[in-house]
Amino acid sequence: MQITEIYKSLQGESTWAGLPCVFVRLTGCNLRCVWCDSEYTFTGGKKMSPDEVWEEVRRLSPDGGLVEVTGGEPMLQEREIVPLMQRMVDAGYTVLLETSGERPLARVPEGVVKIVDVKCPDSGEGDTFHAENLATLGPRDEVKFVLSSRRDYEFAREFVAQHDLSRRVNAILFSPAFRKDATGARDASHCLLDPRELAEWILADNVPARLGLQLHKFIWDPALKGV
Ligand code: SF4
Repeated sequence: MQITEIYKSLQGESTWAGLPCVFVRLTGCNLRCVWCDSEYTFTGGKKMSPDEVWEEVRRLSPDGGLVEVTGGEPMLQEREIVPLMQRMVDAGYTVLLETSGERPLARVPEGVVKIVDVKCPDSGEGDTFHAENLATLGPRDEVKFVLSSRRDYEFAREFVAQHDLSRRVNAILFSPAFRKDATGARDASHCLLDPRELAEWILADNVPARLGLQLHKFIWDPALKGV
């Protein structure tokens, strides 16, 4: 497998935000979102066997707990990551898989929580989510929309309604995009969409979404990696 980094931090997003979590960040992505803050995952990384990844996860969190498999796009390494996620689930870990939903998700193991980041138009990668993946979503999964404009918000709002998402999944997350070159101040001034404005839109339209802020960017310098 090609791995960019494995580290322990606090989960910054989703309904699991705030909990200690081991992050397994796989190298490589087939998308190029304009606000991507993980461009360092596109190339490089180091080769590790699934056994080595597993040992590192157990070293960082020996007694189970939360593991997020992320990237890049982790499902580009489906052949290795699917059995490894199954192994983690079998050992009692809670496994989150962060994916764009551009790759098929049908073979993701049953016990894994899928957090599917559906790309909105102003990400530059709209229309990349594969509609067949909707059928794989269940009551423990979460669907996230990273928003940088009113157009993105309206896309997400319509997607949620059209696919009756609130009845399919555990949570719908609307998150303002962060400027990818953000550094210094740990506050909302780096958001491409004002969180207060987004909150007002969600309330005005009664959207069944949870407003998500990237917790780690308010705790540590937004430019810091490995947190
Ligand atoms: S899918 Fe994720 S890693 Fe890939 S370009 Fe978009 S934000 Fe970056």
